Amino acid sequence: MRFTTLGTGTISLSPGRSCAGYVLESPGVRLLIDCGSGITRRLAELAIDWQTITHVALSHFHIDHHGDLPTLVFAWKYGFLPPRNAPVEIIGPPGTQALLERLSAAYGEWLLVPGFPLSVREVTPADVVELPGHLKLRVHPVPHTPESVAYSFERVGRRIVYTGDTGPSDALAAWAHGCDLLVCECSLPREMGIAEHLTPEQCGELAAAAAPKHLALTHFYPPVENVDIRSIVGVRYAGPVTLAVDGWHFDFEDE
Ligand SMILES: [Zn+2]
Ligand SMILES: [Zn+2]
Repeated sequence: MRFTTLGTGTISLSPGRSCAGYVLESPGVRLLIDCGSGITRRLAELAIDWQTITHVALSHFHIDHHGDLPTLVFAWKYGFLPPRNAPVEIIGPPGTQALLERLSAAYGEWLLVPGFPLSVREVTPADVVELPGHLKLRVHPVPHTPESVAYSFERVGRRIVYTGDTGPSDALAAWAHGCDLLVCECSLPREMGIAEHLTPEQCGELAAAAAPKHLALTHFYPPVENVDIRSIVGVRYAGPVTLAVDGWHFDFEDE
């Protein structure tokens, strides 16, 4: 299993960070998680086999998390020959189908009927989605927008949790507890903190409670990069911390 950070930025446009996007590659699965603006470019740049992405999972409906999705579907339709015929599944919280229908109304029918099987699966916290290769996907609600979820990906005893965009949540910390890799948003410095995002202090508290084996921080608005994120987090969480950049990856040895 390999988890790659494609986009570690936000809607505050940055020369070095694309909007949100990640890819999880495991046997039989190439899963894109969020697809903000700039992610199609990063897929090509990092030589990710974008033509064979099998699933896309959306954490919520802010455009910095899905702005490049229509571009990607159009690329699957017209971007290579012979055209794609393999199916793709788009996973997201309830409302994902309606979002795609609205986008399709704007862009054209091809978005939902691209010429290869495209299905939408809306997931709730009660669901355990079984993906190929014994990969299990689960979601947990997070305080950001009404539909926002965090994702858990589990395979052969290894577990990755991606918070998506979130504010502080004890329930999220408990749900993520003991995971191998916690990919956690770190949006704003303390003086700019809001209920819908995390500060480095709150990332440290979340990690202290969740006790992941490795913490990777992402989704940095430029002002948070002016503070010493690593020291602030380190006061609360003693484990290994990565301040992710676009193109960072984390490998799990397959048992
Ligand atoms: Zn965001
Ligand atoms: Zn958001």
